[in-house]
Amino acid sequence: MHTHSQPPPPARLAALRLASSRLAAPRVPTFQLLICLAWSALAGGCSDSICPDRPPDDFQLSPTGRAVAYVDREIFANVLNWMEAPTTDDPAISFDCLIDYFTARFTSDVDIIFVVMNQSRREFLEQSARKVIANFTASQRFFESGIGSFRRPPIANVGPPRMRSYSFLGVRDGLLAGPSLHEIAHGWSAYLDGPLSLAEQTDQDPISHWGFTSVGGVLGGWDASSLEALGDEQYRVCGPSPREAFAAQGYAHNSVHYAPLELYLMGLLGPEDVPDIQVAIDPVLTTIEGTCVTFQATALETVSIAEIIVANGVRLPSSEDSPKHFDIALIVIAQQSLTEVEWQVYEDAMVCMEATSDCGNLATGIAHDGREVVFQPLTFFEATAGRASLRFAVLQQTADTDQTITTRNDFTR
Ligand SMILES: [Zn+2]
Repeated sequence: MHTHSQPPPPARLAALRLASSRLAAPRVPTFQLLICLAWSALAGGCSDSICPDRPPDDFQLSPTGRAVAYVDREIFANVLNWMEAPTTDDPAISFDCLIDYFTARFTSDVDIIFVVMNQSRREFLEQSARKVIANFTASQRFFESGIGSFRRPPIANVGPPRMRSYSFLGVRDGLLAGPSLHEIAHGWSAYLDGPLSLAEQTDQDPISHWGFTSVGGVLGGWDASSLEALGDEQYRVCGPSPREAFAAQGYAHNSVHYAPLELYLMGLLGPEDVPDIQVAIDPVLTTIEGTCVTFQATALETVSIAEIIVANGVRLPSSEDSPKHFDIALIVIAQQSLTEVEWQVYEDAMVCMEATSDCGNLATGIAHDGREVVFQPLTFFEATAGRASLRFAVLQQTADTDQTITTRNDFTR
């Protein structure tokens, strides 16, 4: 087994991740206090129960019924504050409650839930002092063996029984432009318990990315064909997309295909199609030039899929029997009722993410050097090379709730 340089955080959150940025290690008081503080921070009150009752009229269905807005100015403001100084713990408890409320109000047999802040990337970055968009995935359940184990086991089961993870996206552009594909991958990876060198890379903070390896997928690693040994323990590698600089902790834009190892862990590729992985030992980043990076390492170690299977067990169900379709629910956190135009942005993003060929929509993202870039985002189908699809579910109110949820047709522009 690998060793941690620090004990694992005592958080309930399986995985809180910031695409291409680092998180401070959480310093957590006792669990009860944590819950209280967390809920106070987001909802302005403390309760004995983990999820205090909320007014039932905070949810509003989209015109197509394929998304729901949680409309609450205070929650929106508090999440915004959290985005300026994110920690692993506080939001997790509170987002758990949001997922709980949603699950109680709507029947949706979904695999994944996205929670999205209703703000544009540009308006957030203009107002933010931190200038980094927080996104994370809270993994809740594994339905398979052989993919490693949670680094931070979930302590509460929230969400519909089929839900494996929920992901927070700090801006609405996160759906179409990314990191939605990155966050989906966190439902399965990177949690490998071995071999040691690979597990050590995935344990770097923020955990559960491929680090300095040749995995070369949405969760990090370089393009294997780009590796150049420069001598004197120096190596040069590039990102897996010509647009993306090498990023050990993965890619925020939906412009990188899932790597063979990621597809294997997702149950979409057999082990025979996963190439050997090169893993840098004790890597230290030296320079960044364009989309390439030079780093120092004492050695490069080769890890085979056979060794991964020895360390983690056989991936079951196999790629022949595993699910190839995933249903998604979308929750938008909003300050006020969405306009028709705003709902249409989500509907377009959903249609694009579901498309089996490119949807023709362009997305805007921020390049590693801070420039705004316009690109054609990959759909989930494309990122999996046609191996799997997803669909945003039509949400239906549960029968046993007495609240009235209005579909908002009376938009103001
Ligand atoms: Zn990540």
